[in-house]
Amino acid sequence: MLDADFFRRWLSSCAVLVDREAEWLTELDSAIGDADHGSNLQRGFAAVTAVLEKESPNAPGAVLMLAGRQLISSVGGASGPLYGTLLRRTGKALGDVAEVTPAQLAEALRMGVAAVAQLGGAKAGDKTMLDALEPAVAALGDTTDSFAAARDAAEQGALATVPMQAHKGRASYLGERSIGHQDPGATSSALIVAALAEAVA
Ligand code: ADP
Ligand code: MG
Ligand code: MG
Repeated sequence: MLDADFFRRWLSSCAVLVDREAEWLTELDSAIGDADHGSNLQRGFAAVTAVLEKESPNAPGAVLMLAGRQLISSVGGASGPLYGTLLRRTGKALGDVAEVTPAQLAEALRMGVAAVAQLGGAKAGDKTMLDALEPAVAALGDTTDSFAAARDAAEQGALATVPMQAHKGRASYLGERSIGHQDPGATSSALIVAALAEAVA
């Protein structure tokens, strides 16, 4: 069973991984965007860490909804509302129970990813975070072992954005010139899913 502490570990692991890879994320965003993805997420997850230290919700759903609200209010770029929606929708789907099963989390994350697709109007192949998130949630199953499979699927998904042409977000303004670069948001999504696998270990 996954309790509120598990979700706090996941989010603090997100903050650590984003900090560690911030320069790389910004470098990827400098090739096909506006060179702020690393700093956007650093600021966002630092704010999440701070609010979770101050308030300690004792249900998984409440932890995720609070974190999502914090991302939306602290990140100006496209990724803030999108990741904020992912966490808020997932948290809402988990309800107010004290513990959830991996299968319940998988189902809730699928709803979260669907909400990201709806908000951003993107689909698989558009060279966005969805190219990592969709294969990740498809790989999630009934056990925590599947979190490692989701991490691998997200990494593969992020790598697969290199040959794609962007059809959403700033990178789409470049048209064919967006081809040949890894999408920053798909890359950070792979980190967020890797953090989920780390929270189990
Ligand atoms: P901004 O582009 O506003 O500076 P960020 O640099 O933080 O925001 O985030 C850029 C990432 O957001 C992109 O690499 C892409 O993965 C993701 N993104 C942008 N627009 C969309 C969208 N409409 N749907 C899904 N993801 C998107
Ligand atoms: Mg940017
Ligand atoms: Mg920006």
